[in-house]
Amino acid sequence: MTEGEGTKARKLDGARVAAEIKREAAEEAARLRREHGVIPRLVVVRVGDDPASAVYVRNKVKVCEELGLGSEHIALTEETTTAELLKVVDALNRREDVDGVLVQLPLPKGVEEFRIISAIDPAKDVDGFHPLSVGRMMLRQPTLLPCTPAGIVELLVREGVEIKGERVCVVGRSNVVGRPVAELLLQRDATVTICHSRTRRLAEVTREADILIVAVGRAGFIRAEHVRAGATVVDVGMNKLTDEREVRDFFGGDAEKRLKAVRERGFTLVGDVHPAEVERVAGGLTPVPGGVGLLTVAMLMRNTVEAARARRGLG
Ligand code: NAP
Repeated sequence: MTEGEGTKARKLDGARVAAEIKREAAEEAARLRREHGVIPRLVVVRVGDDPASAVYVRNKVKVCEELGLGSEHIALTEETTTAELLKVVDALNRREDVDGVLVQLPLPKGVEEFRIISAIDPAKDVDGFHPLSVGRMMLRQPTLLPCTPAGIVELLVREGVEIKGERVCVVGRSNVVGRPVAELLLQRDATVTICHSRTRRLAEVTREADILIVAVGRAGFIRAEHVRAGATVVDVGMNKLTDEREVRDFFGGDAEKRLKAVRERGFTLVGDVHPAEVERVAGGLTPVPGGVGLLTVAMLMRNTVEAARARRGLG
């Protein structure tokens, strides 16, 4: 039997690591308040009625409150134009008490996303998506890093997964996950391959990886055949499952709890990795939920506190 086969993959504990990062952010926020009278403040702007975005935004605001950070939620209608949103961003850029400005994506069709992101003051760009933040990251200069990619790196490091010299394969090349996580892992001396929808013989490439990062947006897409025995697998995907047959297929022996969730609230979440298949092959696996998603919010809190410190030049 090869390493990893026949046993269940170790769960990479996103909840533990996220709690640790949030505790550190809360301690730093308390210090800024005590020593400088500063309360880090995040403002989240949401445009339109996307229910998933509404849940994400409420959660971000709630976590700010838990950690002693200030927060505001600005909800704008679906009809908001690019010009109107630019005005809102400009007003937040000018407010001295606002440290982080986050415009929740996706924006409604018709709003020019790149113009909006580019209008955020880079010093307040807690999502790390502004072109200047991206450029500084690529050039290895200090900057606010994008939350999900930086959270993945924190998870690997704090769970004791070796990165230096390892072969990493990232499936997905989006601006928000695939590309930046590949860059951050390259900066930590991994040998990185990026795959996408045009990659030929995907499983041959992914099977080379010691660490496989998956950000594709397709439920259970990565199967046992894609994973080398013993590899560490990070599942970034978040997909809603409503079909009971699919739930049984994805969760195998663990399906009962998930089926209960489907019956009670209409859905359960699955990542881009087939959990029942891959946990029998991988050495380590992030759960969904309870993995990367928690890290994303924790890193947003860290960025907000860091923005509050850095933009005032505080020690
Ligand atoms: P995205 O912008 O839609 O990008 C998906 C990527 O997957 C693209 O690069 C695409 O390739 C690639 N892809 C699609 N089909 C493929 C295939 N058959 N084989 C190989 N690659 C394929 O998605 P994203 O924004 O990166 O998000 C990915 C997933 O992560 C989603 O489920 C999203 O909900 C989740 N997510 C979670 C968090 C979190 O906090 N946990 C944060 C962000 C995103 P092409 O470039 O060739 O089209």
